Amino acid sequence: MRIYVLYKVGNGLKVFFTNNFHLHTLIYTTMNYIAINYDRYGERDMNEITFGKADVHIHTTCSDGLMTPEALVDYVVKHTDLDVIAVTDHDTTEGAHRARAYARRHYPDFEVIIGQEVTSAECDILALYIHEDIPAGLSAEESIRRIHAQGGLAIAAHPYAFVMPMIGVDGMKGAGDRIKDLPFDGVEAINATPSEWLTNRRTQANNRRWQNLAETGGSDGHYLPTVGSAHTVFMGRTAADLRAALEARTTRAIGRVYSPLLIFNVVFDWLTGRLPIGANAPQPVEERQQHAIMRAVGD
Ligand SMILES: [Zn+2]
Repeated sequence: MRIYVLYKVGNGLKVFFTNNFHLHTLIYTTMNYIAINYDRYGERDMNEITFGKADVHIHTTCSDGLMTPEALVDYVVKHTDLDVIAVTDHDTTEGAHRARAYARRHYPDFEVIIGQEVTSAECDILALYIHEDIPAGLSAEESIRRIHAQGGLAIAAHPYAFVMPMIGVDGMKGAGDRIKDLPFDGVEAINATPSEWLTNRRTQANNRRWQNLAETGGSDGHYLPTVGSAHTVFMGRTAADLRAALEARTTRAIGRVYSPLLIFNVVFDWLTGRLPIGANAPQPVEERQQHAIMRAVGD
């Protein structure tokens, strides 16, 4: 159950909370942000300050997700309160480009960040605000260097994941203690995959102990109902606001791991022929062309 509380400070600073634990977190975020950005916000009407929610770790059928980029955008706009998403398919930006092109056509106010989950030789890295694919298999240092060269931000994905690799599921390799020395811009403090229930806490503790990099929360969603289960809270509403908050290290990861019982829903959808979700929706020709052009010019 989700409880929403409207909180008011002084002359109208409005904040939404999902429960008491998050209330504490958001007060912390607010105070932190205002302290850091006082010059920028000090003279503005406090009513203008709002919080945004972003899920910055989502997969689509362009890698191993169960929904098309188009179905993802439809779902997020119609069924969640997320302000921004980043599509981060394994080793391709195609899903993100397709999602952005679709959003621009159908929901012009909704922003999609171009992202990728880069499979580096040592660990998985979320690349946000990039334009083109980063090749897989490079060293973590080189991958991060290339992300930065594109003007992107590099986030350590699920740094302490061990359950999935242990049971032989490829594609969840964390940087571990190297979050201390690799030039990451942030760490994924909450990854909503059920296997990360404990390791998320280890990430948060070690990040606070060491560099205090920006926190992100993401569903790592491969299936629509999981999207948004963990998210990143930031001051503002737009993709640019999120970026500014990540750079100022004022974001907070919110949410929790989703239920492993959702696997039964996946099986049910699969047995009844509903997977992948949105696969039957034709992609308009102009969008495919627009996507090709955007990739060619680096958007
Ligand atoms: Zn992932």
